[in-house]
Amino acid sequence: MTCPACNATLVVECSLRHERSLGDKLFSARLRARRCKVCGLTAPDVFDLGAFELAVARVIAHSGEASPNELRFLRGAIGYDRVDAARALLCSPDDVSAWEAGHSPIPAFTLQALRDLVLLRTAGVAWFPIQVQRARNADPLSQPPDPLQRDSGTVERRPRHRRPHLTLRTNTR
Ligand SMILES: [Zn+2]
Repeated sequence: MTCPACNATLVVECSLRHERSLGDKLFSARLRARRCKVCGLTAPDVFDLGAFELAVARVIAHSGEASPNELRFLRGAIGYDRVDAARALLCSPDDVSAWEAGHSPIPAFTLQALRDLVLLRTAGVAWFPIQVQRARNADPLSQPPDPLQRDSGTVERRPRHRRPHLTLRTNTR
């Protein structure tokens, strides 16, 4: 494999930490990547990058809350433009624009429909271990269980270095 920047052939596999902040949340994961040992160019694996985006969409859809930025992200993650979304959610494209701009709140039943749509459209994607934090005060949020994806037969890949998780222990003595 050659480096697209310097044409060197010393390209090695590595991993990199990828982050995306949306609203008050910071999503992060360790992605497979390739690094050129000559010029240092590092690029994430496109499959992992795509799986990360879809996993973020699923986490948001599961969470039940969605800021205007997250609404726009959810729509984009399933490849819908405003007209597609309006047709699916039985509203007008102007409604979609107003929700995504934060000019008017999305009705609860419409948000539920959008969440269902995102979960349906991303049901077959590989489960991807991502971490979610509050961007402002960095309180860790728990990632909701995703039984659909665990049952899909895909192999779970875990990053080699995981940040230790807090574990609650019940003292039975
Ligand atoms: Zn290079």
